[in-house]
Amino acid sequence: MAGKVDEKKVKKLNLVPHVTQIQIQSAHCSKGCDLMTEEVKIRGMKSIKVKIKWKDKEGLIYLDPEFGSYKHVSEIDVPDGEIVEFFCPHCGTSLKNEEEICRSCSAPTFVFDLPGEGEIVGCLRKGCFEHTLKIVSFDSMHLEVDENFIKMIM
Ligand SMILES: [Zn+2]
Ligand SMILES: [Zn+2]
Repeated sequence: MAGKVDEKKVKKLNLVPHVTQIQIQSAHCSKGCDLMTEEVKIRGMKSIKVKIKWKDKEGLIYLDPEFGSYKHVSEIDVPDGEIVEFFCPHCGTSLKNEEEICRSCSAPTFVFDLPGEGEIVGCLRKGCFEHTLKIVSFDSMHLEVDENFIKMIM
């Protein structure tokens, strides 16, 4: 009996859209570079450093590590509605997700690897806040979700 209940929990946790209380602890590019940085902290937490490109402008953007929160710090100003490109600031590889487009606006998406946990897919259109957190491993994630989060999704 207990086993059945657990299975249900895991199923629901596999795809968790619009969750607000998860703090990203680690994010990698597809080549394995660590994107977390202490250079810029957002609410005292390490941010996710990504190279951003829009038209002929290029700079760095520090993404809010709290999933579902958008207090990003960007070196370049991009008007809402424009589509940007993300690259790894270390090896230069594109962070574009070739497999998915945004479910809200059909723009291209980016993907970050969360080692051992899953991945984050997000929209590359400025102002579109469509993000999906895909959790592959329930066990490792379990340690990082707080009780409110568990309650919320159940
Ligand atoms: Zn890289
Ligand atoms: Zn979008």
